[in-house]
Amino acid sequence: MNELREILKFFGAMGAEFLYLPGSNPRADLAELNRSILQCRQCRLHESKTHYVPGEGSNHPDIIFIGEGPGQTEDQFGRPFIGNAGQLLDKIIQKMGYRREDVFIGNVVKCRPPNNREPLPEEVEACLPFLHRQIELLNPKILVCLGKVALNNLLKTSHSMSRIRGQVLSFHDIPLIPTYHPSYILHKKEKLEISQAKREVWEDMQKVLTVIGKQLP
Ligand code: URA
Repeated sequence: MNELREILKFFGAMGAEFLYLPGSNPRADLAELNRSILQCRQCRLHESKTHYVPGEGSNHPDIIFIGEGPGQTEDQFGRPFIGNAGQLLDKIIQKMGYRREDVFIGNVVKCRPPNNREPLPEEVEACLPFLHRQIELLNPKILVCLGKVALNNLLKTSHSMSRIRGQVLSFHDIPLIPTYHPSYILHKKEKLEISQAKREVWEDMQKVLTVIGKQLP
């Protein structure tokens, strides 16, 4: 028992939040994690939301796409990225040679912030352990942060997206590539700006595929 305590202390000091034990069942753990998300009352967002949006997709994804938090449509249906930004994300995923169900799509916060405001630091702090645990259990080949809110909250940084996009960073030894949030493209008015932003996102996604050794479509 003392030996186990010492081992846990050692990994804790190394920054580990979870440890896999031989024989543990990630699928059961994922189901349990989903149940915890659906019962969460750790911050005030659960009071104003319609549905929790835990995230969805493959249990063995090559890629986890991480957004900021549910918008109105996502809140209404309890599913991530199904509004306008989601339709654009679906196109990007398809262009990369995947189906939506082959990847995992999640968010930093699992409840919609009122009027789509940015999540507050205390809301992020309350919710982030769920995302950490999803990453741990899903064990993807790469993470893609969609927008600076996802990136800077996950990595505890304050990068500007236009400078950092497309660079290969890492989170707990998993490669991470940030790119623009699909809404950023949708909010552009000028045709030229739209096509440039789309081109940059596609460059970043090609890098994602190269890093994980998948042939470019
Ligand atoms: N924007 C996000 O960041 N996440 C969603 O799920 C939908 C829109």
